[in-house]
Amino acid sequence: MPRPVLATIDLSALRHNLAVVRRHAPLSRVFAVIKANAYGHGLARAARAFAAAEGYALLELEAAVELREAGYRQRVLLLEGFFEARELPVFTQHRIAAVVHSRDQLRMLQQLPADAGLDVFIKINTGMNRLGFSPAEFSDALRALKSNPGVARITLMTHFANADEPRGVDSQMEVFDRLANGEELPRSLANSAAIFRYPDTHCDWVRPGIMLYGCSPFAEQTGTEIGLKPAMTLESQIIAIRELKRGDAVGYGGLFTAEHDTRVGVVACGYADGYPRHAPTGTPVMVEGRMTRTLGRVSMDMLCADLSDIPEARTGSRVVLWGEGVPVEHVAAAAGTVGYELLCALAPRVQIVET
Ligand SMILES: *Cc1c(COP(=O)(O)O)cnc(C)c1O
Repeated sequence: MPRPVLATIDLSALRHNLAVVRRHAPLSRVFAVIKANAYGHGLARAARAFAAAEGYALLELEAAVELREAGYRQRVLLLEGFFEARELPVFTQHRIAAVVHSRDQLRMLQQLPADAGLDVFIKINTGMNRLGFSPAEFSDALRALKSNPGVARITLMTHFANADEPRGVDSQMEVFDRLANGEELPRSLANSAAIFRYPDTHCDWVRPGIMLYGCSPFAEQTGTEIGLKPAMTLESQIIAIRELKRGDAVGYGGLFTAEHDTRVGVVACGYADGYPRHAPTGTPVMVEGRMTRTLGRVSMDMLCADLSDIPEARTGSRVVLWGEGVPVEHVAAAAGTVGYELLCALAPRVQIVET
């Protein structure tokens, strides 16, 4: 038998979550965001599950070309655009759209042949201060794109820093609206959080990422609580059982010391599988269908679970690290991070099963 750690990916959950996007943004077209290997779910698998989307958005040119070679004809958008002018022929040959966010990119676009027909998404920095033209640079940048004969369609784009937080999108929307006012161009603004909370941001193209995978963009709610279905379940088995006496410690650093006799299950899953090393004692985990907690430090290939109240647990018992019954958001919160990071970090060595 192979090592028992495996991730099951529920394709019907992926499709369900795309339908949730449609329900929230019925008038918008959808770029399914499949960057970071589709948030750990597998690029090819996710592309298949989201084949009903009007487009895909990702970061790597090679992966975009793979989508074309696999026969996908939807729009494909690279969220950081191109990094060097010599990439441009690949964009035009495969009809890949590029985010244009910098003057460096505008300079590279001067080499674009007049018949290139490149689609661009001009990114405006409305307050996140990561990528994008500042409000002061915007009109010059837009003019340069409009007068470039190699540029075909232009879409106005921005990205929100606080759509998942109380601060919301108002101040960024104000900047965007002021600049976009009077421009008869399509618009793309909303990430998952804005799709849920701010219908005014939906416009022509929404860009859902995390919600497609069934994980919540909000700290205070799980995906299930907002109508999504988590697509990934990370599971393994107990491969050994220890009976600790009062005073015995477990694992590296002896971070957990038993205060009374404690039955411990050693689980075949560790940080080299993508489980967060920072998850402390008390992180939720499910054994034999019952909730319990981790004990001590997560090591590279193993972690420990408290079996004191699960007498039926034995070697071979099923353990769910996250997914079905164990919200990844709760595991992430215990480890001081967000579900995004755990899903993306799923290690290549974990066997994947589709359901
Ligand atoms: C990652 C990303 C998204 C998707 O964000 P989620 O919070 O996962 O929905 C949308 N737009 C851009 C530009 C991104 O980089």
